[in-house]
Amino acid sequence: MIDNYRHRGLRKKLVDIVRKKGIKDERILDALGKIPRHFFLDRAFEDWAYKDVAFPIGSDQTISQPFTVAYQTELLKIEKGDKVMEIGTGSGYQAVILSELGAKVYSIERQETLFHKTSKLLKKIGYERIRLFLKDGNEGLPRFAPFDKILVTAAAQNVPGALKEQLKINGILVIPVGSDDTQTMLRITRLSEDRYKTERFDHFRFVPLLTGIEKV
Ligand code: SAH
Repeated sequence: MIDNYRHRGLRKKLVDIVRKKGIKDERILDALGKIPRHFFLDRAFEDWAYKDVAFPIGSDQTISQPFTVAYQTELLKIEKGDKVMEIGTGSGYQAVILSELGAKVYSIERQETLFHKTSKLLKKIGYERIRLFLKDGNEGLPRFAPFDKILVTAAAQNVPGALKEQLKINGILVIPVGSDDTQTMLRITRLSEDRYKTERFDHFRFVPLLTGIEKV
């Protein structure tokens, strides 16, 4: 896998765009500037890697727009050592950004083909420390709970109860909730055993959060 000066130049421009759109956390901008996003797309689409757009990655799925990755990551307020669960591994790019910020990442994908493809890629580029699971993310990972942070990168119709239950006290869940067309980004903070605070942010459009595992 080659990362050359041209890629680095394109990345710098991408970071400027994402900064202009309002992302302030320099650690996140540094991570975007460091990680070769073109590794996560098929070779033929290399040049699309550094535009601020979502892009198809096969199996009917997309790699999120860089701004969206940065936006969700900023809402999570990641600290070094945080135990983070991601629902919707997809290309693995978001998981790598979280790992780069010092999080211990547990990421779940429901599509078998994508799961295997991304597992292979993450090993190849040196992120075997990210733990990947082929599961229905609606159930979370009870065996590894509780988590400091939980990130859902697919559009949910409701907030899955299992995910709220798997948060630590003071833990944060970031999840886009709404219809198929548009979702509101929610940040849910667990205040105590049974109290949660919900904050609402901007609108986005994600692929849907589905149920069950898909063997394709
Ligand atoms: N975070 C990804 C983008 C994800 S796109 C990235 O950085 O590339 C959303 C992903 O969520 C898709 O790969 C889709 O297959 C997956 N997904 C949808 N419903 C799911 C579920 N119930 N459990 C786990 N993954 C799911």
